[in-house]
Amino acid sequence: MQRYTDKKGLQELSRDAGIHTIIPRLAILAETESDVAQAMEDSAAEGLPVTARGGGTSIPSQSVGGGAILLQRRNAIRVSRDAVVCQPGVVKAELNRALSREGRWMPVDPSSYASCMIGGMVANNSSGARTMKYGSTVDYVEALRAVFPGGKALHVAPVSIEEALSADVRTRSLVSLLLENQKTIAQERPRVSKNSSGYRLERAVHDGVFDLPRLLVGSEGTLCVFTEATLATRVVPKWRLLLIVESPFEELDRIVSVFGEHSPSAIELVDKSVFRLMGRWERVSKYSRTGAPYLLFIEFDGESGDASSKMEELAGSKVGSFDPLVLQSQAEISDAWEVRSETLTIAQDVKRGTKTLVPGVEDLVVPRERLGDLVKLLADQFESRGLEYISYGHAGDANLHARPLLDITDSRGGSTLDSLMEECFEAVWKMGGSMTGEHGDGMLRAKFVERQYPKTYWIMREIKSLFDPKGVLNPGVKIIG
Ligand SMILES: Cc1cc2nc3c(=O)[nH]c(=O)nc-3n(C[C@H](O)[C@H](O)[C@H](O)COP(=O)(O)OP(=O)(O)OC[C@H]3O[C@@H](n4cnc5c(N)ncnc54)[C@H](O)[C@@H]3O)c2cc1C
Repeated sequence: MQRYTDKKGLQELSRDAGIHTIIPRLAILAETESDVAQAMEDSAAEGLPVTARGGGTSIPSQSVGGGAILLQRRNAIRVSRDAVVCQPGVVKAELNRALSREGRWMPVDPSSYASCMIGGMVANNSSGARTMKYGSTVDYVEALRAVFPGGKALHVAPVSIEEALSADVRTRSLVSLLLENQKTIAQERPRVSKNSSGYRLERAVHDGVFDLPRLLVGSEGTLCVFTEATLATRVVPKWRLLLIVESPFEELDRIVSVFGEHSPSAIELVDKSVFRLMGRWERVSKYSRTGAPYLLFIEFDGESGDASSKMEELAGSKVGSFDPLVLQSQAEISDAWEVRSETLTIAQDVKRGTKTLVPGVEDLVVPRERLGDLVKLLADQFESRGLEYISYGHAGDANLHARPLLDITDSRGGSTLDSLMEECFEAVWKMGGSMTGEHGDGMLRAKFVERQYPKTYWIMREIKSLFDPKGVLNPGVKIIG
């Protein structure tokens, strides 16, 4: 185990992809699981909060903190027949390469896949372009190893409810809490295909099983530190087909519903203006045949059948009226997906004087049939304030990444962001949606979590105190007060 206190190193860890800068007191590099346990014990003894950190790509300020930043660069991968065991420092792109050698994949690819790590993906319940067909990280976690406050390392796997009810005191309290409140939890669950706000209460009890791994997924480093994850894998699809359609913002809803009838694996929105603003127009020009401001990437894939049969099905449907550009070669398809993934990386560098594209309402998600209402909400909210904005993301999941250009170092900009968050979140909750589909709550949205879950927030607080009674792990993130 190594401990660092050098100014330059700590400065680098004072930011993630969010808007908060917090200089930590020290950084700890754990080389083994025992190091993680020791680091947690030492920090507790010194009264230092602990923030686990992977690739540091999180957006609502989750991997920054004023205490100890706990890093694990442990990156072993063990592939078995239909699962893979990963240490938390495995970068997703590296996992993809290891799995593809075996003809398998784990289909959740955040656009940050080249630098985000498995520990961070599990802790954020990350999603990707193909979540509409393949689900989020929570759908792939079979078991975990984790170190809990106090320094105890445990293997965590689903067990029967009976077994859980006769286990240790914490497990018994937890299961009873979830069982007694199952109805309220089900009622308050957002009606969306993906959600990263609050704890995943609704996933913890299912099919007569207490699934602690699924409760810990998405806990944003506030309940434990993961030291290993066992993830389910799938066979790589035999074929893929990518259609690209140009669209104005207002047409999104209609296009998504027409293409959605043909079971796509992804429907992704790309905002051409991001590329124009950053002088990278050549990246999207080859897909642009009209002046429409947005591109929709619509992908189909299959483990059986072939692309030609899918093309025949689509040709005889309403899809043809949109005159899509059709990409069939793997090289062309990969190149197009690179363009989609680049959107946020490029957007993070967009500047207009002191204005930048700020997060806050960057991850709203609503029930799929309300996509049109979300599009209208965002346009109204930004345009009524005279704000320039970009919008892109996972149209197929009705999960849009919209960011206004704002100077939040200025108090007026800060209060504009506050009012945008207030009004957008209220509207999204009324639609049965969530304020975050995949990025999580972090520090940025922590104060709103109670309002998203007025009837079950107390359960989340109870869970936080069952696991972390002294509030050592990631204070200020997700669950507060
Ligand atoms: C350009 C860009 C594109 C993005 N695209 C997507 C996208 O398509 N989909 C998506 O879901 N997200 C996306 N994100 C958000 C982010 O990349 C993901 O949430 C990612 O999975 C975070 O991984 P990380 O390793 O960077 O985690 P970090 O930022 O280091 O940490 C994230 C959270 O996990 C906790 N954590 C980290 N390691 C551990 C551990 N071992 N044990 C317990 N807790 C831990 C941290 O404390 C923190 O709360 C994007 C971000 C950027 C900057």
